[in-house]
Amino acid sequence: MSTELLAIDEEVFKVIANKKRLEVILLLENRELNVGQMIDMLGLRQANLSQHLTLLRQQHLVTVRKDGKESYYKLADNSIAKAIRIIHDFLRKQHRIEMPIDSKTLFPIVTDPICGMRFSASQALDHVTDENNKTYYFCASGCKERFAKDKL
Ligand SMILES: [Zn+2]
Repeated sequence: MSTELLAIDEEVFKVIANKKRLEVILLLENRELNVGQMIDMLGLRQANLSQHLTLLRQQHLVTVRKDGKESYYKLADNSIAKAIRIIHDFLRKQHRIEMPIDSKTLFPIVTDPICGMRFSASQALDHVTDENNKTYYFCASGCKERFAKDKL
């Protein structure tokens, strides 16, 4: 067994061993997104996201495609996201956690109950959780205020 190969593993695992980079990998599973979309979905600042993407690119985990001024990112191979989910399933069993880890649960698309606008949860300007533990997400145009008024 080549120890050289294990050294590569170690470098890749070091890069993956970061909560935000794990999120980026799962976010990009089976899809290509531009930087703006990723910022919205992850709730990260551009400089911060760029650092993560640079590290992921250095380990050939993501690839970038330029189209005019936009940069589009995707996974070099989707099986890395699958591998992370397998490890997560193992941990979930150990900790008896029900919720699976995938981009649907991590980056839910929510609907503003007032205006009906759809966006990712991290894009929402504000949110409230009612007495039944249901969370409502709101856009930027005063929908939260209207929601509070209707509810009271
Ligand atoms: Zn709204």
